[in-house]
Amino acid sequence: MQHNALNLLARGSTNDSRCAMPSEFDLIRRHFTRPAPHADLAVGDDAALFRVAPGMQLAVTTDALVAGTHFFHDTPPRDLGWKTLAVNLSDLAAMGATPRWATLALTLPAADEGWIAAFAEGFFDCAGRYGVDLVGGDTTRGPLAMAVTLFGEVPAGQAITRAGGQPGDDLWISGWPGLAALGLMCMQNRIRLTNASRALAALHRPTPRIEAGEALRGIAHAMLDVSDGLAGDIMHLCECSRLGAVLDADALPLAPLIAAGADELLARQTLLAGGDDYELLFSAPFDARDTLAALARKLDLPFTRIGCLTEEAGSILLDDGSKAPPRPLDVRGYDHFASLG
Ligand code: ADP
Ligand code: MG
Repeated sequence: MQHNALNLLARGSTNDSRCAMPSEFDLIRRHFTRPAPHADLAVGDDAALFRVAPGMQLAVTTDALVAGTHFFHDTPPRDLGWKTLAVNLSDLAAMGATPRWATLALTLPAADEGWIAAFAEGFFDCAGRYGVDLVGGDTTRGPLAMAVTLFGEVPAGQAITRAGGQPGDDLWISGWPGLAALGLMCMQNRIRLTNASRALAALHRPTPRIEAGEALRGIAHAMLDVSDGLAGDIMHLCECSRLGAVLDADALPLAPLIAAGADELLARQTLLAGGDDYELLFSAPFDARDTLAALARKLDLPFTRIGCLTEEAGSILLDDGSKAPPRPLDVRGYDHFASLG
């Protein structure tokens, strides 16, 4: 961290009785320093030290959350702490990697200790649940934002990339895509849901599919996590694998969205274009169907087969089960820049 006025959160103020604000170092010690059993050196020095086990590859990902762009300013800090780590975990899950170490860059408008304590609790709830050590970070003053860099391990050569899809593969989605988008619309008072609690939980406390990602090593050919809307992310997988896809409209898992209170049209839109899902989209060969059914039961997590990959690169079609030929899917995922104009 640089020692300039912009970066100071009342640095060194603890011995100064005129200032009640905790120093940056106190905040870090009190709220972000916990045992780090997987590291040789963690919070407190200039850099952390850790070792990757022999035969493993390091998988690294970074995601930032910015107030006003990714969350409302008044989001409960505990939920925000959870989600800050969970969205990064989702990226490692999508590689089939096991999460181990994280750094956290926090930009805070003020040293509000109650807020920071609650944020840290949510963050460490999630870290504890998935075996992640917080090994370092940065704390600075500015508009509320947080960025995590997450490091994980995967057996060398076994990571599941977006590029491994094969023509004829089944296309699968985990869990309940669309629920978080329903939760968001509900928060914005754009819709009313008869049963909002699961949708709101999906929005505020997404469950990264770590166990599923690990278990899919050696089964899935290609995988990514759905964060910007299923339709857009199907396109990403197809682009990377240089393939196309046909989706089966009748197979889309609309039922949980309808159970939450969405009508069929809204369910279809949020499922295909919603975002913030953090489910796994993956392709797998036909002969993996039984294995996947057993795995879904074991994980207590639905895997829904929503279509298949085709050789027609770039062609994403929806088959509505009628006699008409499948038509191009016209729902785009959420794109930060496209939606700005
Ligand atoms: P430096 O000035 O040497 O970069 P800092 O003052 O930024 O060090 O941080 C001191 C120590 O606290 C470092 O080990 C850093 O990794 C850690 N740290 C700072 N902010 C956080 C945070 N939000 N979460 C975890 N560790 C943090
Ligand atoms: Mg340093």
